[in-house]
Amino acid sequence: MNMQSDLKRHDLLIDGKRLPPGTGEYSVDIDPATEQTIALVAQGSAADVDTAVLAARAALKVWNGMRAAERGRILHRLADLMRTHQDELAELESRDAGKPIAGVLRQDLPAAIDTLTYYAGWCDKITGQVVPVRPDALTYTVREPVGVVAAIVPWNFPLMIGMWKIAPALACGCTLIVKPAEITPLSALRVGELALEAGVPPGVLNIVTGKGRVVGDALVAHPGVDKVTFTGSPAVGRGILQGATSNFKRVTLELGGKSANVIFADANLDNAVRAAASGIFFNTGQVCSAGSRILAQREVYDEVVERLAARANAIKVGDPSLRETSMGPLVSAAQMKTVLDYIDIGRSEGASLVAGGARIGEQGYFVQPTVFANVEHEMRISQEEIFGPVASVIRFDDEADAVRIANGTLYSLAAGVWSADIGRVHRVARELRAGTVWINTYGYTDVRLPWGGSGDSGFGREHGDVALDNFTEPKTVWLALDQ
Ligand code: NAD
Repeated sequence: MNMQSDLKRHDLLIDGKRLPPGTGEYSVDIDPATEQTIALVAQGSAADVDTAVLAARAALKVWNGMRAAERGRILHRLADLMRTHQDELAELESRDAGKPIAGVLRQDLPAAIDTLTYYAGWCDKITGQVVPVRPDALTYTVREPVGVVAAIVPWNFPLMIGMWKIAPALACGCTLIVKPAEITPLSALRVGELALEAGVPPGVLNIVTGKGRVVGDALVAHPGVDKVTFTGSPAVGRGILQGATSNFKRVTLELGGKSANVIFADANLDNAVRAAASGIFFNTGQVCSAGSRILAQREVYDEVVERLAARANAIKVGDPSLRETSMGPLVSAAQMKTVLDYIDIGRSEGASLVAGGARIGEQGYFVQPTVFANVEHEMRISQEEIFGPVASVIRFDDEADAVRIANGTLYSLAAGVWSADIGRVHRVARELRAGTVWINTYGYTDVRLPWGGSGDSGFGREHGDVALDNFTEPKTVWLALDQ
């Protein structure tokens, strides 16, 4: 166990400076693979949020006083710095969140950098329109930054999802206060420092660490915040939506999922089962679009179950710092308990456990890749988001049955469909209630394509040019020509 006095203290990053929290309190940051404390992190307070909001409001003039192309150049420099520091960032992320280092280097970090590069290119292309209305007037629209943005980020992809919010907000000329999840704050703090090095002016990107109930609540209630962009659970999202009514803040919510991955009997089963396994076990199942419900047509059901269980048993679970590890621990003791509780629920509901089902070892929050067969659509493990490496395999008879089951949860973030019948995949894709549908593949996202859901999966879309609307306000200008 590290002595607390030896540990690095991570202060808040406000107005370009590292500041100790007003309360003087720090929380311990734990490596989920070893349960060792790896750092001490400032517990921000409502007063710290006040300071950060003041800084962000003052910085709006500075950031928007720059040429748009110069803002773009600065964001490109930040992307370059992230590339230069990729090993350091990957190690921070891997230790903080228990993510396998190989996956962070292959997926999280390149996706974060790609997001930043993509939106850096947008800085000087956010245009309005001249709209002809009458001969005696010049009438046009401009898109102004929405103002100060609070970005509230979850722990499953701290760097990547953080950047999904930071990059478009900065490109649109907004300033931000980022609140990372309390258990995974380290990469955001480092990106905040690199942003300063890249030339992002002080106060434009502030990082306030601390509890959701303290820092998050204060941001959501603050009259100086114009917009909240949130990724997290439906329960917290609901509270944010209610809290944001105080000054009618604009809100975007990316919430959970219980995505269906539908495998028809005529699908290429090798590809379908390989993708179904990574669709649920990638990032230890802690993925909002995890394909946690695998729907298999009756004719191939047993084969899908058997192959999926074999794949689950073959996954290398272990030390995230080793390149050969493909699955790490769950992020926290609390998340491990949630997952183990759901495994007990699955057993008691009468589903058949065909792989995994237990904790691995006694140190680190490792749980076996788990597969339940004979899952009925109404069971809790089929309806509720587990956010862990637990697959529920459900039988269906025909297309109508598959669509009914797939659409039968409160969520609608993503879904997959596998079949060799081109007409069928399009019919089913049309019927599925989901923000993204993958056909004969699963799990891809790209910053150029809109991402988000509806229902308990939230509302609004991130990514692409659609996200620019999240961070801009259209203004109509009407100029009389005959004076
Ligand atoms: P969470 O809702 O507990 O926390 C998310 C963030 O909200 C954290 O930063 C937390 O500190 C903060 N928060 C907590 N209470 C708050 C409050 N009262 N006011 C303001 N902020 C508060 O979620 P989590 O456990 O970090 O993440 C897991 C959830 O996120 C899952 O439900 C998952 O599906 C969802 N998720 C969705 C997406 C997506 O793109 N739709 C992506 C990743 C995760």
